[in-house]
Amino acid sequence: MTPSFFDEGALVAVLTTQPLDRALDYKAPEGGCHLGAFVEVPLGPRKVLGVVWGPGKGDYDYTKIRSVLRVLDVAPMRTEMRDFLKKAARYTLTPMPAMLRLATRAPGLGDPPSMHKVYRRGPDAPDRMTDARRRVLEFLAEYGDLSFTLKELAELSGVTSSVIKGLVKQGAVAEEDSPRDLPFPPLDPALPGKELTEDQAHAARHVAEAVAAGSYGTTLLRGVTGSGKTEVYLEAVAACLRAGRQALVLLPEIALTAEFLKRVEVRFGARPAEWHSGATMTERRRIWRMVGQGQAQLVIGARSALFLPYQNLGLIVVDEEHDTSYKQEDGVLYNARDMAVLRASLLGAQVVLSSATPSLESWANAESGKYTRLDLEARFGPAVMPTMKTIDMRAEPLPSDRWVSDTLKGEVDKRLAAGEQAMLFLNRRGYAPITLCRACGHQVGCDQCDARMVEHRFLKRLMCHQCGETKPMPTTCPSCEAEDRMAPVGPGVERLGEEAVRLFPDARVAVLSSDMYGSARALKAEIESIAAGGADVVIGTQLVAKGHNFPNLTLVGVIDADLGLQGSDLRAAERTFQLMRQVAGRAGRAEKPGTAMLQTFQPEHPVIRAILAGDEEGFWRAEAAEREAAGVPPYGRMAGIILSGPDVAQVFDAANALARNPAPLTRIGAQVFGPAPAPIARIRGRHRVRMLVKAGKGVALQGAIAQWIAQLRLKGDLRLAVDIDPQSFY
Ligand code: ADP
Ligand code: ZN
Repeated sequence: MTPSFFDEGALVAVLTTQPLDRALDYKAPEGGCHLGAFVEVPLGPRKVLGVVWGPGKGDYDYTKIRSVLRVLDVAPMRTEMRDFLKKAARYTLTPMPAMLRLATRAPGLGDPPSMHKVYRRGPDAPDRMTDARRRVLEFLAEYGDLSFTLKELAELSGVTSSVIKGLVKQGAVAEEDSPRDLPFPPLDPALPGKELTEDQAHAARHVAEAVAAGSYGTTLLRGVTGSGKTEVYLEAVAACLRAGRQALVLLPEIALTAEFLKRVEVRFGARPAEWHSGATMTERRRIWRMVGQGQAQLVIGARSALFLPYQNLGLIVVDEEHDTSYKQEDGVLYNARDMAVLRASLLGAQVVLSSATPSLESWANAESGKYTRLDLEARFGPAVMPTMKTIDMRAEPLPSDRWVSDTLKGEVDKRLAAGEQAMLFLNRRGYAPITLCRACGHQVGCDQCDARMVEHRFLKRLMCHQCGETKPMPTTCPSCEAEDRMAPVGPGVERLGEEAVRLFPDARVAVLSSDMYGSARALKAEIESIAAGGADVVIGTQLVAKGHNFPNLTLVGVIDADLGLQGSDLRAAERTFQLMRQVAGRAGRAEKPGTAMLQTFQPEHPVIRAILAGDEEGFWRAEAAEREAAGVPPYGRMAGIILSGPDVAQVFDAANALARNPAPLTRIGAQVFGPAPAPIARIRGRHRVRMLVKAGKGVALQGAIAQWIAQLRLKGDLRLAVDIDPQSFY
């Protein structure tokens, strides 16, 4: 049994966030320390953050062992959290220090609480009364003992801050220091939710009862966009709050909107904690600490909110569970959806996976009975699913600078005449994907990567979508030096925007692409203003498919429905199906029925046909049968191995050495494919070589891979990354 407390001088093993391969021994500090305590320890000349992970190993000269410098004033890491990090590390084959870094992504954890000045009623009367002074004092009297910041008080009582400072001097207003990291206001689960339809009420009852029972379980909540999935899972959140446990709602980053938070606030009477990449350092620290003390009951957050130190987590909702942004593609390669299920199973908590178009993984888990499946069949209220049609592009030849067919143009014109919105969807950022020299045929590529540079006319530069490198648009060809012969080829959303302005001269055209706004917040604000009627024709990339409500939008035109069907990605069909259905789901959300039109050169493709027929079960069954026959996920296991380095020969040598010694893998019946140059063979100057490991469903894949790669000594600047359950294969 691991002791839960270590007396002063006892040896403790401390896991740090530094890239070391083991926990280091230290002496417990004066006053001792708890197992799981967050501590500061000396490492060489530095002080680093760590967690007391267990008793020390004692394999080092005791007299040379240093002491823990101090125990930080935060709740110790719980056993459950340590187990979760260990299991997640084992699953993703990630070193523990990197896991700990994920769990401590808030700055200044050990700092004393940061303070700010607040103002409240003071004991004395001012020597002289003015109108302004009276307003302040009457305002404070009305609010009794509440305190305000200077700015709040000045604004609320309609005076300048110098008036308040004057009253402070006189003792009529008291100035005090107060900690900034305040608890989050309590949420009230007893406030009434919406009156649910029969379908919704049934689903809500099921999840609420599961949460109240306090054991582990995962529910797949499936229903078309607008069917009320959010209403249903908010009832599960209410049940969780009533049970006195914390709840977490994970959303794709872009879906974390003011609109959504407002909705939660209305349901529970106060704002929840909001964890996302735009949060300030102070906000992050406050959330991290309050979550650990149980003083934040509900967190709405992006992916990494899963690694916060919850005191008593009872429910995790993963909204849009199929969304690819749940998979972190650099650093620790983890899928937040899968890790949510892991964490909940360790906690005895419930998971709700919500989606209009679930991943095949979750669909299969529901089929096999591992997950409970609940379906909401109809859209709420008068909204109906949009009508879906294809436009056969073989029958509508277009000049080389046009992408909107005459049929689609005609449909957009009708919507504009009716005062409605239309959306043109194209999943390609920038102006043109290729910049070509008309004299010699040269295509401008990135110097660092094996990728074409994409013209961004908005930024007036060429950009590499792999590494973000940009360069000015050349006027002479970098290859043959011909002047003024560089031409854009193919469409991106910016170019489509130009076409729309030409085709619909009287309409207000807005282009929505993540790179055209300074920040995620600015982008969200723009989406909200467009949804409120700020544009007639909306041109958008993938991000408009995510969770936004455009009540006046009645037509979605998909410029290139075939785009996702190309390529050899295992999930190409699934992704296209999901994306097209979601995009279509943007149309006709309020009273007006919507139409989705897909421009395609292959209208008879099975995926396109399944999208048109709206036959989801049929699509999933067919896709499942194909994957099962091929022995690929979710009916088999996969791992990607990516070796990279500056020297291509060295990278290949290392990969070949591994491939020649596959014994640990063959023992579990796994196969190795490759090595082969990665589809993007160079990123940021590093050459990349991939191998793919395929194995049967029930095998201990991670253990075998760990043994296998342990044979390789990584020399110099060579790096190896293991991607368990890969989502992308670039
Ligand atoms: P989903 O999450 O499935 O896309 P939402 O929960 O966002 O669906 O519901 C879509 C819209 O319909 C929202 O504006 C929501 O407030 C409304 N709505 C859903 N169910 C009800 C209900 N039972 N009563 C009133 N409004 C509802
Ligand atoms: Zn590049």
